[in-house]
Amino acid sequence: MSLIPYGKQNISEDDIAAVVAALRSDFLTQGPIVPEFEKTVAAYCGTNHAVAVNSATSALHIACIALGLGPGDLVWTSPITFVASANCARYCGADVDFVDIDPRTYNMSAASLADKLAKAKASGRLPKVVIPVHLSGQSCEMQAIHALSQQYGFRIVEDASHAIGGSYQGDKVGSCRYSDIAVFSFHPVKIITTGEGGMAVTNDLELAKHMARLRSHGITRYPSEMTHPPHGSWYYQQIELGFNYRMTDIQAALGMSQMRRLDDFVAQRHAIAQRYDDLLKDSVATTPWQHPDSHSALHLYVIRLKLGAMKTTHREVFERMRAEGIGVNLHYIPVYRQPYYAQMGFRPEDFPQAERYYAEAITLPIFPGLTDIQQGEVLRRLLTPSGYQTIF
Ligand SMILES: *Cc1c(COP(=O)(O)O)cnc(C)c1O
Repeated sequence: MSLIPYGKQNISEDDIAAVVAALRSDFLTQGPIVPEFEKTVAAYCGTNHAVAVNSATSALHIACIALGLGPGDLVWTSPITFVASANCARYCGADVDFVDIDPRTYNMSAASLADKLAKAKASGRLPKVVIPVHLSGQSCEMQAIHALSQQYGFRIVEDASHAIGGSYQGDKVGSCRYSDIAVFSFHPVKIITTGEGGMAVTNDLELAKHMARLRSHGITRYPSEMTHPPHGSWYYQQIELGFNYRMTDIQAALGMSQMRRLDDFVAQRHAIAQRYDDLLKDSVATTPWQHPDSHSALHLYVIRLKLGAMKTTHREVFERMRAEGIGVNLHYIPVYRQPYYAQMGFRPEDFPQAERYYAEAITLPIFPGLTDIQQGEVLRRLLTPSGYQTIF
């Protein structure tokens, strides 16, 4: 039995033709398509600069370095995210802490952030960088988080891996109106794909130049950044330690082609979500709440089981649906529960909302191309299970 996955890429004949054209061109990497893709995404988001890289993980890493993060510094992020949102701080030798989630949006709670900042100020250990994660594609309350950044003096990297195509207060996610840098992922399960790939967007030219240099070994070709005038036109200088985090032109060609359908992808996700919302009304599942300031990209459709009204467990529902061919998932295991982080001394009871979420959440399949029949199958498996009775 083939599983209906929770998410997957949508590849058209145009996408294939774009990749083939890149393969036939003079440049497989470091050619003209990467900068074209960067310009396209920056223009879409209404931001000034974009730096394409080989993953969102790489983008988060170079964003943290560009903001000056190092050993002894502190980064705060959401516990309900993929581990990469926290790992980027660890790559820089910084410490990580988590801010509990909002019980309605499942994003980092701006109120919990404010409380935690007040306490951190009293104890003299404020974060240098805060990384809000736009879970499911719904923007965090960036205006409030930005106001706190002004008050407490931290920088903001939006982990917008789920959120390209979404908007907040009428601006596209990635506008960076309330942040220093925003990061997108183009992994195949995300909104648009380049196979593997990511991008950092910013309005700050210096941050953009620094991230572009870190993407390619720490090498510069700008004479103004060199320690002395170039020896000749061949000349370059490595002025710091960077990486090879470059995106290929093959990937950028796919990304350019996918960008043409971004708005359509998001519209299709909304149509699927609307159908789930309608059919799950007054059921055993709490459907995703949408903040009025946000138009979600709907990367994920996360329900929460009303376990008090069900004669079954979260795990039973999950495993039965998997056994019946529905590729449900759980986004995410709280990061502080991962052994790598748990050994640092985090206590689950410090994150009561994240713990409740983890006990109840299930991600249902959502992706452009999911058919009505498949969606009906998902709901039939969820709502009319063979093995348990519901009382609603
Ligand atoms: C997918 C994802 C990442 C990492 O993206 P890659 O492109 O696979 O490196 C980071 N953060 C979040 C929230 C993600 O969902």
